[in-house]
Amino acid sequence: MARQPQPQSGEQDREKSKRVGALRRLGPFMYPYRVLVALSLMALTLTATVSLLLPMAVRRVVDNFGTESEALLDKYFLAALGFAALLAVGTALRYMLVTRLGEVVVADIRKAVFDRVIGMSPSFFENVMTGEVLSRITTDTTVIQSVIGSSVSIALRNTLLFLGGLVLMLFTSTKLTLMVLLIVPMVIVPILVLGRRLRKLSRENQDWIAESSGNASEALLSVQTVQAFTNETQVKSGFSRVTDLSLSAALRRVNTRALMTMIVIFLIFTGVVVVLWIGARDVRAGGMSVGVLVQFVIYSVMVAGAVGALSEIWSELQRAAGATERLVELLQTDDSVVEPDQPVTLAQPVRGEIAFEGVTFNYPSRPSVSALDAVDLTIKPGETVALVGPSGAGKTTIIQMILRFYDPSSGRVKLDGVALPDMVSEDFRRHLALVPQDPVIFADSARENIRFGRPDATDAEVETAAKAAAAHEFIVALPEGYDSPLGERGVMLSGGQKQRIAIARAILRDAPVLLLDEATSALDAESERLVQQAVEELAENRTTIIVAHRLATVKKADRIIVMEQGRIVAEGQHDALVAAGGLYAKLARLQFTEGAA
Ligand code: ADP
Repeated sequence: MARQPQPQSGEQDREKSKRVGALRRLGPFMYPYRVLVALSLMALTLTATVSLLLPMAVRRVVDNFGTESEALLDKYFLAALGFAALLAVGTALRYMLVTRLGEVVVADIRKAVFDRVIGMSPSFFENVMTGEVLSRITTDTTVIQSVIGSSVSIALRNTLLFLGGLVLMLFTSTKLTLMVLLIVPMVIVPILVLGRRLRKLSRENQDWIAESSGNASEALLSVQTVQAFTNETQVKSGFSRVTDLSLSAALRRVNTRALMTMIVIFLIFTGVVVVLWIGARDVRAGGMSVGVLVQFVIYSVMVAGAVGALSEIWSELQRAAGATERLVELLQTDDSVVEPDQPVTLAQPVRGEIAFEGVTFNYPSRPSVSALDAVDLTIKPGETVALVGPSGAGKTTIIQMILRFYDPSSGRVKLDGVALPDMVSEDFRRHLALVPQDPVIFADSARENIRFGRPDATDAEVETAAKAAAAHEFIVALPEGYDSPLGERGVMLSGGQKQRIAIARAILRDAPVLLLDEATSALDAESERLVQQAVEELAENRTTIIVAHRLATVKKADRIIVMEQGRIVAEGQHDALVAAGGLYAKLARLQFTEGAA
């Protein structure tokens, strides 16, 4: 049998999400639109009232058919036309207001979820698949949209029709109403039993859909690796398995729902027929007029219809409750990196002094290994420091700590003497420029890709930065120059070109601290020389921390920090470190690519 879906929430959370009450959490999102809500409710009440009045009019017409004058009859039918007009306008209004409400509220929810998620620290994304988040933003919000935009209004309308209809039935014929009420439990019990099963199935279905989008997006993002290793069959069968599981959950849901509909309709109509039969006998015996019986029958059909609609809508509401739970959960996820309540601001101008004070850090996903182990390190403003060491030594982790993607397990990281957690992340990150090892290129023009470093930069500034990064020449040689689209993830650029775009971005940012994770892959000699030159340009007058893989870089650094297993094991300049032998001398022999030095 299917393994149970593994969403990040625990079993208890799933229990909660069964309850339609979870929809209350949409309240804060509806609040800004309370006028719209009020208007929708008015339109809703209007149409329900008109519907409830109609059967009375029908009774009068039926009972007085033979006796009334022709003029009166004309009046009745004119009034009926008036009712019809009211009903038409009211229904159109209701549709318009309610659907609009659904659209605007869901747009807000989508934005809120995205805003929340885009600010999350990396440890959040280690636990949640990006595709799953996307599925929540798209699928779950669509469910909520259909609920606010229609289901809730159908539910309210039918509740009004049900209650109003029931009261009017009582007025019409108490005896017949009481008989009808006897039938109600017969209908309610199967609804409750099957409804529970439906809820479980629909949640399962949603979970599998989320899982299958997660799978698909992961495979698509790494499509070339999948193809290179000819793993398509495996990936396809994985995706098809998850999709089939979601399909089978959906089909079971459909079957249950069909069964429920059948039972409910049959029971209701049996009841109506029986009551009608008794009523017909009463009419024959003279205890009731034909008009009253007709009125009663219309009301009971109305009430039964309302019950049917409610039972159908109920499961929709529950689906939406589940979706709401998941979205609210996402909105309320605590991030491991918390912004301060009373933030400190940096003294201007920022000097760019970085200090690590006894920093020990374990990645949350690997608590037993210290990625950094009691690191003490002070980097003076304007200094260029090269971090070297074998792979896994903790060099990249140093960069991530300076960006405050994670908080240390103990110790502190400071910028200009202020501990990072005391500042709003956005405030200090604006003084950092990052050139990552594998530069990210967005599906946009070359110009916009560079402008990403500082969105308010002018075109001239973008070009100056590109020139300094030795990127200008290859960009103008592109078919549309600076306006050339670079393709998703920069598929149209070579490794060296991507790096120079990333460097131009960092130059444009003009921040006092530069964090540079040098590419491990060797570039051709020409690119190498250009990149090196660009980096030197950029490092000028800034605090620069380079995760270095090239001899040329380490030779130019003011200081080399040698790391091993999360600790600083040596520091100094190239010649002294080589002379001292040890790890650095070995690394220098084996690991550095010569570059254009
Ligand atoms: P370097 O950059 O020197 O190659 P890193 O700083 O990337 O080393 O890694 C230091 C240690 O932390 C390694 O043992 C690595 O496996 C581990 N590590 C790095 N990133 C993560 C992560 N996101 N989750 C868990 N462990 C990690």
